[in-house]
Amino acid sequence: MNFEEADKYLFPNYARLPYSFVKGEGCYLYDEDGKKYLDMLSGIAVNQLGYNHPKLTESICRQAKEIIHVSNLFYIKPQYEVAKILVENSCGDKVFFCNSGAEANEALIKLIRRYFYDKKENRYEIITFEGSFHGRTLATITATAQPKYQEGFQPLPEGFKYAKFNDIDSVKQLINDKTAAVLIELVQGEGGVNPADKEFIKELYSLCRENGILFTVDEVQTGIGRTGKLFAYQHYDIEPDIISLAKGLGGGVPIGAIIAKDEIAKSFVPGTHASTFGGNYLAAAAAKVVLEEILSDGFLDKVIENGEYLKERLKTFGYPVKGLGLMIGMDLPEEISAKEIMKKALENGLIIGTAGKNTLRFVPPLIIRKDDIDLAVNILEKVLGEK
Ligand SMILES: *Cc1c(COP(=O)(O)O)cnc(C)c1O
Repeated sequence: MNFEEADKYLFPNYARLPYSFVKGEGCYLYDEDGKKYLDMLSGIAVNQLGYNHPKLTESICRQAKEIIHVSNLFYIKPQYEVAKILVENSCGDKVFFCNSGAEANEALIKLIRRYFYDKKENRYEIITFEGSFHGRTLATITATAQPKYQEGFQPLPEGFKYAKFNDIDSVKQLINDKTAAVLIELVQGEGGVNPADKEFIKELYSLCRENGILFTVDEVQTGIGRTGKLFAYQHYDIEPDIISLAKGLGGGVPIGAIIAKDEIAKSFVPGTHASTFGGNYLAAAAAKVVLEEILSDGFLDKVIENGEYLKERLKTFGYPVKGLGLMIGMDLPEEISAKEIMKKALENGLIIGTAGKNTLRFVPPLIIRKDDIDLAVNILEKVLGEK
């Protein structure tokens, strides 16, 4: 593939690296020359079952031969089946489907507003956190409390306030009679793989409950087994009112969702919100297999076990390692550029990501094994040793 030729036709909004893949198998990708890469990025925490997973590809192919899409004016069986699995395995009661993380959070924001509108309470302010990431639509870049994502896009929608992550006093200072909800990532992804403190979440949760404020979580990246539980909130002793999902849910097929308590979901009456593609046959057929696999016996135990193993191995480099399950970050000192390490790793057949200021990000397929992890650490040893 000619990269310069491709750039002639594509928007310049991605800083693309000069690599192109033609095939994948398990945790490995192959480029046009047949060179093999160990993928510890998974399309940014998307490919939970890796590449060419037999059950996933079989389900997608079978579904494609039957029906790919009909409108949500009709009942879509696999969509209802996915909703049932999500509800039976979470604290929520009802599911709405869309196509991406930004859309899921957009729906979450609209639902918060509509819920208080129906209750005839003039509450609309949503508190989000510094270092967060919630998507790229106008409302979700506003929820994203990082100036770099908002620059040049003003005027932004009203009604968002920013607190400091893991700092309960900063939240208390923002609460008033207009506060509708708190929206938080329990492990900040793009912000640098920062887990929320247990004590902070406990206090935040009680603060919300005491003040009639909805507690909502962005599990677009942390959900669907990524942290070793189906949802990251299950590591904390809480029951969120609304949960947003996307990334891993379809194992690579675009699908997003929000799960909400009945009392809140009922505000989305016909006409209030919709999505043409949301939860269509193809996407739902994929999500169903992903969920069935992740919930199968022992799957999540392995995620925890391999996450711990990866963390232990990474700690030998002597830099701070953090994260939950298979969502792991390693902070590099300023003089070693994470971006450079990522590029060097690529040259050596290892795909990793970066996040936050200078963090290496590891979000491999959840099916990764110890020998794959050993290979990744060996390549990193070489790459970091050359620094
Ligand atoms: C990736 C991400 C989003 C945005 O998802 P898109 O599918 O790119 O719109 C939102 N929230 C979090 C936590 C994410 O990691």
